[in-house]
Amino acid sequence: MILGIDIDDTITDSSKTIETYLKKEYPGYENYHMLPKKEYKRFLKKYIKEMRDAYPIKEGVLEAWDYFRKHHFKIIIITARDNKNYRENIKDTKKFLARHGIFYDKIYFKQKKKGKKAKKEHIDLFIDDKEKNLDSVSRYGISCVCLGTSSKYPSFLDWYSLLDYIKEVEQHG
Ligand SMILES: [Mg+2]
Repeated sequence: MILGIDIDDTITDSSKTIETYLKKEYPGYENYHMLPKKEYKRFLKKYIKEMRDAYPIKEGVLEAWDYFRKHHFKIIIITARDNKNYRENIKDTKKFLARHGIFYDKIYFKQKKKGKKAKKEHIDLFIDDKEKNLDSVSRYGISCVCLGTSSKYPSFLDWYSLLDYIKEVEQHG
């Protein structure tokens, strides 16, 4: 089985970590995307490397990857991460994944629209937290699931229930 998987808020708990940093620096803001442009840049410049390093892996990820390894799944990571706000982002992302034992067969960075790469890689099932990305992949006739909440796609709040679903798809198609 070939899986396409996002990183931020799918494999890692990115938003929660960013919120913690944001509250310390800008207590008035709930979301760093709401910061004025100058402050947004300043915030990322100051903390992005530290935050990225501190992102926790979501619960059940390691168990899922263990299953993927044993069952010879092919893992294609498709992420929007780039080197724009943080020069070593790509290099550090690879290090981070290796450090946590998250293997993959291929990784695509800078993917704002993920459908084309998902199609190219013949992905059977695509997993992302954002409906926008799922829409982009679903358009190519690829099955999608949401790690989070969605009204359009099968949704899972954690990797334990998602893994059960993947096992079912694997067995029954
Ligand atoms: Mg994401």
